[in-house]
Amino acid sequence: MPERKPDGREGPREGYPKDPKHYADPNNWKYPVHTPFHARAARRYFDNPVNRAKYEEEEQAYIDARIDDALRRFGVVEGRSMEDRVIPFDKDLEEMSLEDLLVFFLGKDRLRRAMKIEEATLSRRGDLLEGEVKGYPLHIDLADKRIVHDCPDWQRRSGGGLFCKHVGAAFLKLPEAEALAILRRLVPERERWIFQMERDAG
Ligand SMILES: [Zn+2]
Repeated sequence: MPERKPDGREGPREGYPKDPKHYADPNNWKYPVHTPFHARAARRYFDNPVNRAKYEEEEQAYIDARIDDALRRFGVVEGRSMEDRVIPFDKDLEEMSLEDLLVFFLGKDRLRRAMKIEEATLSRRGDLLEGEVKGYPLHIDLADKRIVHDCPDWQRRSGGGLFCKHVGAAFLKLPEAEALAILRRLVPERERWIFQMERDAG
């Protein structure tokens, strides 16, 4: 849960819910999500990089999850952010670069953050790739069509068939030809792959 912030509120604004559970950021009484209108507005404001930048990455994942929960609860069908909705799929898969393919799974912002991660390993034995990114485990099983990882962003995005920056960083550590081969296979097969949390893997 996000910490108290210097510009956080001391309590609810006039006319707003008095129970913190109605806020995506309960500690600061921000991003009220008690109605479909407010949940949509929360998504719009929180997609603004200026507002997101006030929070740590884990805090952002927390707020995103609470806004998305509210949107789902109200049956508001709306994408995560403009960026994630842009799927560049007028291109031939074989002509897509590693960067194009990673943008597909990450969006441009996350790809930029993935590129900055130094602390990533991924090594391959047959159909199994295993590694660790910033202390988070990662297993990719090509035969079983399964990616197992564990972080707050993966928890939120993996259900939608999207990567977190750690998984992106791991692909960037592979030899380029190998990463390209796996991703070119993954894109058309993605409905059949399982993106899973470590704790849920048997
Ligand atoms: Zn991750």
